[in-house]
Amino acid sequence: MLKHNKKFIIIDKLDHSSASRIATGVINPISGQRLVPNWRLNKLCPFAQKYYAEIEDNFREIFFNKLSIIKLTNNKIDLEKLKKLKVSNEYSKYLINTECRIIYDKILNSNFESSEILGSHCDTTTLLDILANEFKKNRIFKADNFYYENLILDKGKVCWKNFKASNIVFCEGPRAVNNPWFSKLPFENSKGEVLTLRLKGKKHLSIKSTLFKNGKWLMPVAEQKFMAGSTYCRDFLDNKVTNDARTEIINGVEKFCCLNFAVVLQQAAIRPTVKDHLPIIGSHKLHSQISIFNGLASKGVYFAPYCAVQLANNLIYGNSVERALDVNRFIY
Ligand SMILES: Cc1cc2nc3c(=O)[nH]c(=O)nc-3n(C[C@H](O)[C@H](O)[C@H](O)COP(=O)(O)OP(=O)(O)OC[C@H]3O[C@@H](n4cnc5c(N)ncnc54)[C@H](O)[C@@H]3O)c2cc1C
Repeated sequence: MLKHNKKFIIIDKLDHSSASRIATGVINPISGQRLVPNWRLNKLCPFAQKYYAEIEDNFREIFFNKLSIIKLTNNKIDLEKLKKLKVSNEYSKYLINTECRIIYDKILNSNFESSEILGSHCDTTTLLDILANEFKKNRIFKADNFYYENLILDKGKVCWKNFKASNIVFCEGPRAVNNPWFSKLPFENSKGEVLTLRLKGKKHLSIKSTLFKNGKWLMPVAEQKFMAGSTYCRDFLDNKVTNDARTEIINGVEKFCCLNFAVVLQQAAIRPTVKDHLPIIGSHKLHSQISIFNGLASKGVYFAPYCAVQLANNLIYGNSVERALDVNRFIY
């Protein structure tokens, strides 16, 4: 919208435990338990990289970096899949074509084969802070709690407090389940927890831009500091941390890692997810002045740039949103 010189205002209650602030910020191109390439990988991956690089250039800040994802497995099916991907025309560029050398023997148990996937990491907190500061500076940011009952629909426009606009876009994450216009969408939100760990003892490890993964994952973030995660829970959709999740993550990491850690922080947030695990963007079928930007699930960093451009082009130029991402692929 900014690029197109369109006037807008952002209303945000500045929830510091939102998924975007807790998120690890990883783009893993070959992800999930089934090790499938991400949706439209060869289009969206370079798209996201270019998008974040532009913001970095504009603000002279660095928050987006390459990340080497070391996939550890002994599962024959997984190994076969990785082997096929490594020689495929479409996806080989996301995998290092040699068996990944175990140079991490100070960290990893030796009982896994390892493959290296080329991913990226976005420091989402830095990105959000840069953008929020810019929006505040331009007086287009209003820190406020938005209540649906204060929105008035009037002759194809929307009014909220003393603002009038041709469109409102709800980018409210998991809270969309309560949105009176969109609550019937097939939401399947999931809670996730992550840990911040400190290395016990005096070992000095300087590993940069690497994430180790075998079900659970471990990512060094500073000399003695690591992040580890995560969990998926659909039963309790709140921001409270749990002992069960902590144990699940620690046990998962101990399967492949031989270091000892102390937990210094545990965080929880909800991933806004819909049934088919693709984002939902576009305007309401009956009230075209109301739109949604949601369903980023566990791939917000990957999907957000592409979806933002799709939705902006839809709202400004009337270009249609891709069917696979369009909110109106669902009956609601
Ligand atoms: C543990 C965990 C790890 C994750 N790791 C990754 C990862 O490595 N890579 C990745 O790509 N994704 C990851 N994700 C997913 C990612 O966090 C989400 O896809 C993304 O953050 C969703 O963004 P969102 O803006 O839709 O929702 P949110 O981040 O939840 O943002 C919602 C916004 O709406 C505002 N809001 C809500 N209600 C109101 C209201 N009433 N009034 C005003 N403002 C309101 C909030 O303040 C907030 O700013 C992870 C998620 C979790 C939970």
